[in-house]
Amino acid sequence: MEKAPLKGSCLCGAVCYELVAPPVWAHVCHCSRCRKATGSAFAPNLFVPLDALRFTQGEEHLRAFQPPDAERFVHRFCAVCGSPLPSLNPGRGNVVVPMGSLDDDPGLSPQAHIWVASRADWDAISDDLPQHPEALGSGD
Ligand SMILES: [Zn+2]
Ligand SMILES: [Zn+2]
Repeated sequence: MEKAPLKGSCLCGAVCYELVAPPVWAHVCHCSRCRKATGSAFAPNLFVPLDALRFTQGEEHLRAFQPPDAERFVHRFCAVCGSPLPSLNPGRGNVVVPMGSLDDDPGLSPQAHIWVASRADWDAISDDLPQHPEALGSGD
């Protein structure tokens, strides 16, 4: 069972947040935007209800970037250290939480891979989770 609230923070510690409701879903996104935003092969993202996110410190350091052609994708990050941080997704009624920013165990690990058709050539998936070529209903 997950602890409540779950705590998270950025690399420099300027921004801290809490999730006051349990996570509803988690997946790994292999799209090119997530690769650029994280510098990694994929982005493990946790989803919580829209009203579950509370910034407890450093909210003034938050910055956001939305690619001009993006419908929903928003990269939210700490202006001091650049770490990805949770972003609101009102269109889908949830908050996207980069799982690497969590300090606590959410009690839920990724349940699927999405945007697998867009993954990098050097990105080898080595688990047995379901793979979706593009988005899921709860995806980014
Ligand atoms: Zn920071
Ligand atoms: Zn993505």
